[in-house]
Amino acid sequence: MSKINTDITLGILGGGQLGRMSAMAAARLGIAVIIFSTENDCPASYVAKETITAYYDDKKALEELSNKTDIITYEFENIPLETIKYLEELKPNSVLPEKTLLEVSQDRIKEKTFLNSLDIKTTRWEKITDINCIIKTCNKWNCDDFILKTSRFGYDGKGQIKCNSLNVGKNEQLLEFIKASKDCGIIMEEIVPFAKEISIIIARDYAGKTAIYGPMLNEHKNHILYKTTIPCELHNKSKELALNVSETIAKAVNLRGILTVEFFVCHDDSILVNEIAPRTHNSGHWSIDACCVSQFENHIRSVCGLPIGSSKPHSNAVMLNLIGDEVKNIDQYIEDEFSNIHLYGKKQIKSERKMGHITILTPKTIQNKEI
Ligand code: AMP
Repeated sequence: MSKINTDITLGILGGGQLGRMSAMAAARLGIAVIIFSTENDCPASYVAKETITAYYDDKKALEELSNKTDIITYEFENIPLETIKYLEELKPNSVLPEKTLLEVSQDRIKEKTFLNSLDIKTTRWEKITDINCIIKTCNKWNCDDFILKTSRFGYDGKGQIKCNSLNVGKNEQLLEFIKASKDCGIIMEEIVPFAKEISIIIARDYAGKTAIYGPMLNEHKNHILYKTTIPCELHNKSKELALNVSETIAKAVNLRGILTVEFFVCHDDSILVNEIAPRTHNSGHWSIDACCVSQFENHIRSVCGLPIGSSKPHSNAVMLNLIGDEVKNIDQYIEDEFSNIHLYGKKQIKSERKMGHITILTPKTIQNKEI
């Protein structure tokens, strides 16, 4: 009789592509998934046992989710904290990853305060309430260019503007941004002239064992990730720093589940954390095709109390996102033996919508001429 119990029903809050790929990984382990989503026909609904369609403040629907599941996790960080707290009341110790990381990752000001409290370096930042704060901060930093970001609800470059310190009081766009974003809180960040953007994904199980994906090299177009390459050419010093930072955060919150850390690599090989997220990440999609155990499976294993598996890649990989109309280009990959096509089942193509991705593998055995 196996000591590993997979007779589990897992609830996933959120029904996008991350939920879909998580549910597919769960299915491989014999774990049933119930998706909770605000949208009918969401990508994850097609691969789950059941979908509950309701708003995140619908207590009756949350009770239904709780009654029907053993464990609950989430696929994106903008789930209201109140929802998580309510589910935790209904199901103590069964909502994972635990909410500390979720709370900090929902708010850039809390996130940077948390990271800095662990002695982890970020870009210089300041909480902003009005134009005077901006002028003072520009003088303090002696900088010309900066970015303003909403502290909450920003993603893929949304909710941020790049500005110049000249004539800030007369910059209509900036004034409009401050007015519109006041309720979410505003953070001012120094612009980092980075050399590279990288990420690390770390999974950690109940026994404290970790599995690391990366560092991955990430390239963006219009603030949206379009390409991830693994392995990433990196100075050993940067790599070690990035790994240490990821382990430090995971340990500090006693992580059960998965955490993504995004970094800027500076020209002197120092690193700064840009963002963290207690969830699977677009920069780890290649792991489905190139690793012994993918980011999705290790997330599922960890929250369901199973030991996590090896994240070791058997292939090098390039992951290309299919954004908007790019999804029409799959013909060029479909007959290639090293290209793996993943489509998210989204019915409507929109210009900045992630419709799918391709992972192009270079098996390591071929590089070493073993086959
Ligand atoms: P974010 O939503 O904060 O991840 O920002 C989206 C993208 O904008 C990042 O991946 C970077 O390419 C760029 N970016 C954000 N913040 C900064 C910064 N402080 N300095 C330079 N580039 C930035």
